Amino acid sequence: MRDPWTWLGAVVAGWLAAGPAEAFKVYVFCDMEGCTGVTGSEQIMGSRADEGKRAMEGDINTCVTGCFAAGATEVVVRDGHGGGTNVDPARIDPRARLIQGPTPGVRNKDLDGAEAVILLGYHAMSLTPGGVLAHSYSSASIQRMRLNGREVGEIGIDAAIAGEHGIPVVMVSGDDKTCAEAKAWIPGVVACQTKTGTGWQSADVLPEAESRARIARRTEDAVRRRKEIRPVVPSGPQTVEWEYLPKGSLRTHHVEFVPVADPRRVEKTGPSVERLLLDKP
Ligand SMILES: [Zn+2]
Repeated sequence: MRDPWTWLGAVVAGWLAAGPAEAFKVYVFCDMEGCTGVTGSEQIMGSRADEGKRAMEGDINTCVTGCFAAGATEVVVRDGHGGGTNVDPARIDPRARLIQGPTPGVRNKDLDGAEAVILLGYHAMSLTPGGVLAHSYSSASIQRMRLNGREVGEIGIDAAIAGEHGIPVVMVSGDDKTCAEAKAWIPGVVACQTKTGTGWQSADVLPEAESRARIARRTEDAVRRRKEIRPVVPSGPQTVEWEYLPKGSLRTHHVEFVPVADPRRVEKTGPSVERLLLDKP
């Protein structure tokens, strides 16, 4: 049998080497389109909107649990779909701090100080074939966006904003197109596929339990690996271009997204992607 003093010495030495558990914050920005079971516009702003809200709440709570399981000491959740008042605060894990409603002048309120960002329930950029509810900020007015000449959607923009704050995006969840876009923009990111997109409003959806189990596992894995994933830091100056749909060609969420030949094009250059986004024309 091992000498108890040797054993105790090894335990104490290990504990001293590891140091006290480190305190850190994770920021979860939650959209709705990529959440578990969401496939159609009626679920995100129509007659079945309660389904989208319950899907967000379930995915958020699963993700929050994963963050704490990975050692986070603070989790901030931004309700980030539409006007930002989708989830019922009473249904959200009380360990998380929930930010809802408009936050003028800042896209991600209280982001500073976080060690990791998670983009939960996201969607692919506008015009992505087979991307469930794919759009870039507004499917009614924005056809296309570019960041420094490269086609970009909300994932690339939000990764760049987090990067400006020195924070990596460690996990992105959504359909398979969302996951592919995340990997193309954020080297080393953990992608969490919740469904396979087959059209703008159609998908092969995972069973709820399977989707949530993936979110739990991948969140924990991603947060543990937060120091291996680099922030996406755009080298300035930044140029953001918007292609707007011409007036009169307004789309609705019920129509497949088809490119318009002559969109109105607006370009702005500045030192910060976040500022350019908030000051968008
Ligand atoms: Zn949304």
